[in-house]
Amino acid sequence: MKSFERENIRKMAGYASGEQPQDPSTIKLNTNENPYPASPKVREVLHNFDVESLRRYPPPTSPGFRKIAAELHGVETKNIIATRGGDELLRLVTTTFVDPGEKIGMSYPTYSLYPILAQIQNCPTFEVPLNEDWSIPDNFADEMNRAGVKLTFLVNPHAPSGQLVPAERVAELAQQLDSILLLDEAYIDFANIEQTSPAMAIASDNIIILRTLSKGYSLAGLRFGYGIGPDSLIEPMMTKTRDSYNLDAISQQIAEIALDDQEHARQSWHSVISERGRVQVALAELGFSVPDSHANFLLAEAPSGEGLDNAETLYKKLKERHILVRYFNAPRLQNKVRISIGTHEENDRLLSAIQEIYGSRRD
Ligand SMILES: *Cc1c(COP(=O)(O)O)cnc(C)c1O
Repeated sequence: MKSFERENIRKMAGYASGEQPQDPSTIKLNTNENPYPASPKVREVLHNFDVESLRRYPPPTSPGFRKIAAELHGVETKNIIATRGGDELLRLVTTTFVDPGEKIGMSYPTYSLYPILAQIQNCPTFEVPLNEDWSIPDNFADEMNRAGVKLTFLVNPHAPSGQLVPAERVAELAQQLDSILLLDEAYIDFANIEQTSPAMAIASDNIIILRTLSKGYSLAGLRFGYGIGPDSLIEPMMTKTRDSYNLDAISQQIAEIALDDQEHARQSWHSVISERGRVQVALAELGFSVPDSHANFLLAEAPSGEGLDNAETLYKKLKERHILVRYFNAPRLQNKVRISIGTHEENDRLLSAIQEIYGSRRD
């Protein structure tokens, strides 16, 4: 059969999403969703939504949302682009600023969507391995520059480890890099520190920040994210490469109310952070090695010498008990599972399941 696919598309595999079981009794700790509900105002918006308004096209540039986001971050509306999830921003940055054949840089490991987007654009990837403790090597920017990288993806806090690069170091990296720096802050809401990155981005000529409502605002199903950056980087995506009506009218209204309800969102971040500390300590007591995380997940290394140090076995045994965590069959991650922080009750059930799995193995 003749294939009409471009050769790079024919050769590539697609993005492997985390499992999305429909069974509501499953405890889902595999895709970093927020375990707490979105702002109650979201329900009101949906309840009062004027269905007749759908006859018309939505506001093309999401001005209401961008104004609220700009005020929140102390920047101007022109410094914000609203996108269909953070993922649309990643795609726009790739297609707007990188020619096919040019290199896209990233750390290893990192968010597994980045290499996929590079393949779609027919761009080779250049990977710099992180240090043993998941920190960024000193020569990171030099390596990127030497390879002639055009766009560098950096996820901070890091996925899948939760490690945070301090703002000063990010600023230094951006200054050293010859490329655009896409600073992916999908999990920044769960970091224990105040963020100065938006001011840094708009004062730069090469930083675009990614934010999303999927994690911090409990709205993964909505598909709403945004970018923050200098006008010179936001404007071409805004006026040329974005779909003319990339965000529907319902999503725009929901996103506005959710971003505006900072008090509600912050409460959920505090709860996640406090549960994260509790789960980390409990896992350490069970013999796991769990580095500090600034995200809403933990990367836990199973204790060795118990016959169960194969993390894939742990993943499967948890799945038998209807608890989903994420296992990556990839270098440096094979002895680890990534566990999203759930509600207090979900975390308790996870911990007792792990205790049961290891307890029954010991004798
Ligand atoms: C979740 C996530 C995003 C954005 O996801 P959307 O749901 O498309 O907003 C971006 N980067 C990382 C690392 C993520 O985990």
